[in-house]
Amino acid sequence: MKKIVVLTSGGDSPGMNAAIRAVVRTGLFHGLEVFGVERGYTGLIEGQIFPMNISSVGGIIQRGGTILKTSRCEKFKTKEGLDMALQKIREFNIDGLVAIGGDGTFRGIREFSALGVKTMGVPATIDNDLSDTDMAIGVDTALNTVMGAIDKIKDTASSHERAFIIEVMGRNSGYLALMGGIAGGVEVILIPEISYNLPEISLKLKEGYQRGKSHCIIVIAEGVGETYEISKFLEDKIGFETRVTILGYLQRGGSPSAFDRLLASRLGAAAVEHLLKGETSKMVGLMGNKIEATDLEVVLSQPKTISQDLYNLALRLAK
Ligand code: ADP
Repeated sequence: MKKIVVLTSGGDSPGMNAAIRAVVRTGLFHGLEVFGVERGYTGLIEGQIFPMNISSVGGIIQRGGTILKTSRCEKFKTKEGLDMALQKIREFNIDGLVAIGGDGTFRGIREFSALGVKTMGVPATIDNDLSDTDMAIGVDTALNTVMGAIDKIKDTASSHERAFIIEVMGRNSGYLALMGGIAGGVEVILIPEISYNLPEISLKLKEGYQRGKSHCIIVIAEGVGETYEISKFLEDKIGFETRVTILGYLQRGGSPSAFDRLLASRLGAAAVEHLLKGETSKMVGLMGNKIEATDLEVVLSQPKTISQDLYNLALRLAK
């Protein structure tokens, strides 16, 4: 392996830059030539490939977003798109590709490796919906953002005696909502993985008020898909005055936390080292305290599960 290329694809997450930095500097350390691609698979197809050196990644470890930019590229899902990208890889004599992104990005490199390109995935998505890694890059920073928002809203909630609903990102995953809700000490957490009963929840909220609670915060994962309906139910049927806050893209930005910078540094370096060992079509991930590489076939075939123990803990602590 002499030349490798790195790209970021799909939804951005804080810490992607730290991962790019680790890939580039680890590659250079091992005597490889390292190239970057702009705008993910779109840039690969269009040949937006350029050499990177030690200084290309200077001063970026603390920055959110991705200096390589990212995109969603429908063409890469077609044979024509994959062939065009392959042609560019051959033109630049590239031996290995590191793709930083989420499950869509990994479906892309799985297809690409079938054409003979050596690939390695680095998990970066605030949703934490990938199996075979305890955490993806960006999750910890997003969790801190969610927790900070809950703390602030709690101040207003206590002053006004209203029920506040906070919708948290995560696509079909309730991870951010569950962990953010526990860390923020909220009263109710609703996630798509576990069914809920609104009349029961209302009862719990009423009991809280009767005990003299001054605030009530309900965290709902976006995957539940019924934030406004739930708010309306609580207002119309139960008589709670409610306010909805959708945290939205706030959760994707910001300077990465120490945890995310360390994780990104370890995963980025490991991706290059696994490519150097001749491995391909794998994702590097954090398992316990170790970095391990797992076949994309395995990663993409099993859903990430939410820990029932953590959910039970949330139920016990949220009163
Ligand atoms: P994420 O990586 O954050 O999950 P997306 O789901 O948007 O983001 O996927 C990123 C890109 O990966 C897509 O825009 C597309 O170019 C590529 N991709 C997704 N699925 C496939 C697939 N089945 N085959 C080839 N490329 C894919």
